[in-house]
This record gives sequence, C-alpha cells and structure tokens, in this order.
Amino acid sequence: MLVLMKQGATRAQIDAVLGKINELGMTPHEIPGATRTAIGITGNKSALEPGPFQMMDGVADAVPVSKPYKLVSREVHAETSVITFPNGASIGGEQLAVFAGPCAVESRDQVLRTAEVVAKSGARFLRGGAFKPRTSPYAFQGLKEDGLKILAEARQQTGLLVCTEVKDTETMPLVEEYSDILQIGARNMQNFSLLEAAGKAKKPVMLKRGLSATIQEWLLAAEYIMSQGNYRVMLCERGIRTFETATRNTLDLNAVPVLRHLTHLPVVVDPSHAVGIVWAVPSMARAAVAAGADGLMVEVHPDPSKALSDGPQSLTFDAFAKLMVDVKKIAPIVGKTA
Ligand code: PEP
Ligand code: MN
Repeated sequence: MLVLMKQGATRAQIDAVLGKINELGMTPHEIPGATRTAIGITGNKSALEPGPFQMMDGVADAVPVSKPYKLVSREVHAETSVITFPNGASIGGEQLAVFAGPCAVESRDQVLRTAEVVAKSGARFLRGGAFKPRTSPYAFQGLKEDGLKILAEARQQTGLLVCTEVKDTETMPLVEEYSDILQIGARNMQNFSLLEAAGKAKKPVMLKRGLSATIQEWLLAAEYIMSQGNYRVMLCERGIRTFETATRNTLDLNAVPVLRHLTHLPVVVDPSHAVGIVWAVPSMARAAVAAGADGLMVEVHPDPSKALSDGPQSLTFDAFAKLMVDVKKIAPIVGKTA
C-alpha cells in the first residue's frame, strides 16, 4: 500500500499517517518526491484497506502497489531517485556517475596513481576491492583493512568518493567506516543477512546483479535493503550467465530501459565484468551510456598485465582517457553530462 499525500500536506498530517501505520504494527517509509510525499507501508500480514487512510487529513489517495517489490517500485516514486554527496557528486541525476579504478587494491602506489589519472579524466568515484570475493580460495583475497586505508588516502588526495565491496556482515562496520558507497557483489546479491545489514547502514549501497538473477529477483534483493530503512540504493548491471562463452558474461543492456520502467533506483552499468575482454569494454561502455545508464563502473589498472585480478578486462590509463572523451560526447544525447 502506498499513501499519497496531497501537495502541500503539512508535517503534522504526514506524522499522523506515520503514527497510524506504526500503531497498526506496520512499518511506514516516508518517500519525499519533487511535488508531494508518498508513504510506503511494509510489514502488513494481509491486504490493507485503503479507506481508513483515504479519510485522513492531507491524504490524496491510498493505493495498492501492484508489484511484489514495493519501495523500489516506480509506482512509489515517479522520478528517478538521485543519490547526492556533500562534495556535489550525484548518481541518478543529470551527472553521469563514473566509477573507475582497479579490480583490487594491490598497493598504495597502484591506487594513488590510478586515482589521479581517472579523476583527471572525469571520474568522480574510485572503485577497488579490499575484500575480494574470489572464485578460487587460492586467488588473491585483497589487502583488507590496509586496502581500505589506501582507498581513503586516495580520496583525500583526489576528492574521488570511494566505492568498495563489503563481503560479509562481520566486516560491514569496518567497510562503512572507510567507504562512501557499500558495494554488494554479484555473488552476494541474495545474501539476505548482508542485504539486511546494508539496509541498516548509513552509507549508500551499490547492489550488483547476481550472476543468474532475473530482474525481479534483483529488485527484491534491493527491496531487502530499502525495507530496513536505507533508501540510498543503486543497481549495477554487470553481465549475466548465458550459453555464450565468447565473452565472460553477457551484458544485459535490456536491463537499463527495463529498470528505468520498473524502478526509481539509479542504474549503473559495469561493462568490465560483463564482457571480460579489454578491447570490448569501451564499445559496451559507450553503448551503456547511449542506453541511458546513470553511471558506468570500469576497471582501470596502471599495468593490466601485472594485475592480481581481472587484468584481462582492465583498461590502461590511455584507454580509459580515450573512453571518457567518447562518453562526454555521447552523454548529452541522453540528457547527461560527464
Ligand atoms: C567487482 O566489482 O570487483 C566484482 C567482484 O564484481 P562482481 O561482483 O560484479 O563480480
Ligand atoms: Mn574485478
């Protein structure tokens, strides 16, 4: 159920609706919009009657939400949500949000050099894993807290905001302390305890699509986060498993317009993990921007041949700079600036 407040409804009227929902043992979610406030209701055990809400002062309407996911649905919030940061960067608005950096934090020098270069080319977010969820237990697992410290130093030097993966609930407080955005990786998309913990965190969350997740499963995973009260969630399409073996995964660019239709959450595309081959990354990055993505996440490494993870899909500094020149030309066509 969604309670739509009238334009100009007072704080007291909104509070009365929130109070009534709490009184009934359910959870209200206040969702401010450009013109009016909506209040989502979760935690109801059976279908709700709209009548009692419709009668309240300041309420324009109370309507059932037709989708299995509620808070992420565009029915609840007509405009795309914009996640903003104190330094002026944003995700979901007019700015194209570019996340760039190595797959894994390997050394201070590697990260600081990369951060400087990607910032100069127009990225506003630095990516890089300190806790790496590797397919093999023998592969490099990341520098852990030392890696987080390096990312924080790079932020201080360049002004880039940090987006790094949180792999489990135990390390959530540590990652939250250092990172500006909590990345939940594809392999953890349905780790429900982790999703709930992220829902209680104070930092925005980037939820990557699971390797074989449908769009509905993905949106329901985002709903887990939002249902706990963290409304600053973005989705990241990073390729899905198909029968095709010529590329690492198949980039589902359909997801960009489909998500735009179904949800108000910002949509980021990661062409690096999707195609997995360095020479194919720029094409798919350009295509993602043209498709209307709110952001790009791209792996960049000072020397991809020596990378400890995902070297074959990592762009060199020059290739990234060239991609950004193209992206800056494409973005205005879809109403973005880069
Ligand atoms: C990553 O971005 O570093 C990563 C591990 O990606 P994914 O979870 O999409 O595989
Ligand atoms: Mn990677």
